[in-house]
Amino acid sequence: MSKSEIKLITLGETAVGKSSFIVKYIEDRFSPNYISTLGLDFRQKKIILENGQEIKLTLFDTAGQERYKSIAANLIKKVNGILLIYDITNNNSFNSISKWMESINEVSTTNISIILVGNKSDLDDRRRVTNEEGKKKAEEYGIPFYETSCKDGNNINEVILRITEEILNKKGNNNRKGEILSSHSKNKKSKFC
Ligand code: GDP
Ligand code: MG
Repeated sequence: MSKSEIKLITLGETAVGKSSFIVKYIEDRFSPNYISTLGLDFRQKKIILENGQEIKLTLFDTAGQERYKSIAANLIKKVNGILLIYDITNNNSFNSISKWMESINEVSTTNISIILVGNKSDLDDRRRVTNEEGKKKAEEYGIPFYETSCKDGNNINEVILRITEEILNKKGNNNRKGEILSSHSKNKKSKFC
């Protein structure tokens, strides 16, 4: 089977859980502390689909807010997919999703896959953004929507699986439901800070 490489990036405001998402997915670990992201950092994991296809997944992390005009813009051009993340307990992070979509559209090509992620679903008692609002926003853009928790793991794998499938379909691959049979990960620090 052919080898493929898929590159993803997490985008969204500060503290929505961009770094936590990557750590949870790669290492199945959660830290209650803020994970500082200096410049840019990435993690890799090899996944094997049901049909035997091997995929090298690279997840790029960014520092949120500020410098997306420079760092993220360059990176957006290089990735296959974007995990656009907000925090369900933080209205501002949700309201800025449209701003993020605008800046993505300024630099990306049309065949990039985007998925909307409402993170921190475990904090339902502090929820400020309803599931419906998230769903509606995603429908506006015609992209999939999931609520996730980096704490209890809710939908973390599902999000990666979904965007991986979308990307492979766009690449013209006919993968069946891509159940991940095995995986192995390694961590790397990038040089371009
Ligand atoms: P980033 O700035 O977007 O990279 O955010 P971080 O990954 O550093 O997370 C910011 C804070 O939110 C940290 O204190 C995390 O522990 C916390 N956090 C991230 N995801 C979740 C989640 O799903 N549930 C809860 N309860 N806290 C989370
Ligand atoms: Mg971070």
